Amino acid sequence: MKVILDELRCDAHGVCVTACPEVFALDDTDDIVRVLVQEPEESLRDKLSKAAQACPKAAIKVED
Ligand code: SF4
Repeated sequence: MKVILDELRCDAHGVCVTACPEVFALDDTDDIVRVLVQEPEESLRDKLSKAAQACPKAAIKVED
């Protein structure tokens, strides 16, 4: 499972950080979210899916 972030779309709202802090991180100086783990464990799939669905910019994709 891979996390793909469209950096051009991300506007650093941080919704994904709330949904899945194991994978996404953001601080006050970040313009885009940071992906901490490019290939997360399968156990995080549900949280990642929720993060992708919640992103207001549709900037997150999860691929197998
Ligand atoms: S929710 Fe979407 S737009 Fe907001 S920080 Fe995450 S990836 Fe970027």
